[in-house]
Formats: sequence, structure tokens, C-alpha cells
Amino acid sequence: MTKSKAVRIRQHGGPEQMAIDEVEVGEPGAGEIRIRHRAVGLNFIDVYHRTGLYQLPMPAALGMEGAGVVEAVGPGVTHLKPGDRAAYASQPPGSYCELRVMPAKTVCKLPDAIDFDTGAAMMLKGLTAQYLLKRTLPQGGLKEGDFVLFHAAAGGVGLIACQWARAMGLQLIGTAGSDAKCQLAREHGAAHVINYAKEDFLARVKDITGGRGVKVVYDSVGKDTWDKSLDCLQPFGLMASFGNASGPVPPFAPGILGPKGSIYMTRQTLFTHIATREATQEMADDLFRAVTGGQVKIRIDQRYPLAQVQQAHRDLEARKTTGCTILTL
Ligand code: NDP
Repeated sequence: MTKSKAVRIRQHGGPEQMAIDEVEVGEPGAGEIRIRHRAVGLNFIDVYHRTGLYQLPMPAALGMEGAGVVEAVGPGVTHLKPGDRAAYASQPPGSYCELRVMPAKTVCKLPDAIDFDTGAAMMLKGLTAQYLLKRTLPQGGLKEGDFVLFHAAAGGVGLIACQWARAMGLQLIGTAGSDAKCQLAREHGAAHVINYAKEDFLARVKDITGGRGVKVVYDSVGKDTWDKSLDCLQPFGLMASFGNASGPVPPFAPGILGPKGSIYMTRQTLFTHIATREATQEMADDLFRAVTGGQVKIRIDQRYPLAQVQQAHRDLEARKTTGCTILTL
């Protein structure tokens, strides 16, 4: 048995619920690896886990993303070996630690050209941008020149999506909560930006698209943007809801989708897309190509030592962060 520092909560609540415990880490079982983290990614889903919007059995470990060196592999694991550099997005939560035993299925070898910090920052957010832009498609697919609306475009997932959308030839309209964030989204490939803290994003979207609306809305903000987002869509457009940063979307009647132009609605989660080793690797390879090829740069704007995890959560929730955030070890 080896010991590891690990961030855990004993009950759902505010950032003060997170404490650093010392835990015992054993040998990996079948289908598992033991990984020593070099860096850990912070994601908004960690906030949902902490607050209890997404419930966890207690005590609960937090964190869904990390990068490090594989120390040991359990029976049946063939795609990794001790000494491999690796990175992952994975459930159950538990990446906020130095060392852990975890399922190997979604852990991928990290290309030499990608450093640990970048690997830790990009897996959950990058694979999410991948499935949103390439696997969550409107009728007829997405074509060059198509308009899409992406909320919180200056955030972790957002800045990756801006760059990837540009590489795909899409006209991404990005929203963000300040002029500085809008500028950042524009610099990363958003064709148009809207400061939704002071502008009516529906009116601006109609204006930008000549009244037609967008083919897809990617909405991770939830409660605050939901109603107007639906009205931003063109007929047969797709509402891709994927988060609740402002709170969950209230229940709605499917009948409202008809008069709005027979629009489609989907609520996706990354973990359905990376349910198999094959799918994970295929998506990760696409992401690795985009990053090593320079189409997508992973911007790490915040770094906090693991001991400052409470402050990291406070800043993320207070909308003070841009791009990706990592916890350093
Ligand atoms: P971000 O870095 O994007 O941070 C969240 C951003 O949401 C904030 O910076 C803020 O940007 C915006 N926001 C709008 N309203 C609020 C509010 N009331 N409180 C806090 N933030 C608000 O986080 P991530 O990149 O980690 O994740 C982005 C979103 O994608 C999250 O909602 C997350 O849950 C979701 N997600 C979903 C996945 C899935 O598969 N379903 C997988 C990965 C992420 P601004 O100030 O510009 O409005």
C-alpha cells in the first residue's frame, strides 16, 4: 500500500467542504491501472459533484481529468504498461489526488509532443468539444459556413470549440460574460461574439444570421439561456444542451418545439460517447491530431496547487476563469 493526498468531501456543499485526506492506494485489479498524476484538470462538473446537483455517495472523491505516469496495470489491460505517459477523462470522480487506482478503459497514452499540464487540461474539455462538433449533429450534418451558437465561449470547453469550429469552417457565434472574454473568444476563432451580460443574444443572433437563426445551439449555461437559445434556432435546428452552469433547465413541454420550427433537442454527456475503449481512442486520436497539428491550442489560464483547490472552485464558480484550469502537484 502507498499513501496519496486526495481531495474529498464528506457532504455536499460549498468549497469549504473539500478537505485533503491521506488515503491508501493499493494494486490495480482487473481492467484497472495505478497512475501517478503530474497534473489534474478542473472542470465545471466538479462543482456539480461538490454541490450535489449531481449526487455522489459519501465520502466522495472529486475530479474527472488528469495526466501522469502509469505505475502498474491490472490483468486484462493491454493498451498501457508501467512507465507510459497517459491522460484521461474518466468516471467515477477521483482525479484530485497524487496517485490513484482507476479503470483503464478511458485512459489514453499521451503523445510525446503533449506535456502533462496540457494533457491534464484537455481531455475532458477537448473530448467534449469533439463530440459536440462532430458527433452531435443536426439533420443533414454541419457544413462549411454553417452558423452555430456556442455559449460560454471563453471557458475551458468554449475556447477549444471556438478553434475547432474555425478549423472545420463553421461560423461560430460565441457568447461570454464580459468584453474581455468576448475578445478572447474572437482571438480563438469565434467568427462573431456577443457579450450576453449586456447584449440581447437572441436579437444579435438574428441580426448576424440575417434573421434565419443558427443550425445548432450548444448550451452549457442552462437555466439563464434556455428560453432564448431555443428561439435562436433555424427550422429543424438542434438544441444541444450539455450543462447547467447557471442552474438546471426547468421542466418543459415537448410541444413547444413544434411552433419554434420543428426543432430537435438533445441532452448529451461525454460519458456515453466514451463508453468503450475503441470510441475513446478514436475521439482522443482526433483531439491529439488537432492539438499536435496546431489547429487547437490548449490555453491554461489558471494553475493552483492541489492545496488551493477551494480557491480554484471559488474562482470557477465566480466566472473569474477563462480557458482551462489545472491543479498542480
Ligand atoms: P467553463 O470554463 O466554461 O466555466 C463555466 C462558464 O459558464 C463560466 O466561466 C461562465 O462564463 C459561464 N456561466 C454562465 N452563467 C454562469 C453562472 N451563473 N455561474 C457560473 N458560470 C456561468 O467550464 P468548463 O469548460 O469546465 O465546462 C463548460 C460547461 O460544459 C459546463 O457547464 C460543464 O458542466 C459543461 N460540460 C458538459 C459536459 C457533457 O458532456 N455534458 C462535459 C464537459 C463540460 P461567462 O462568464 O462567459 O458566462
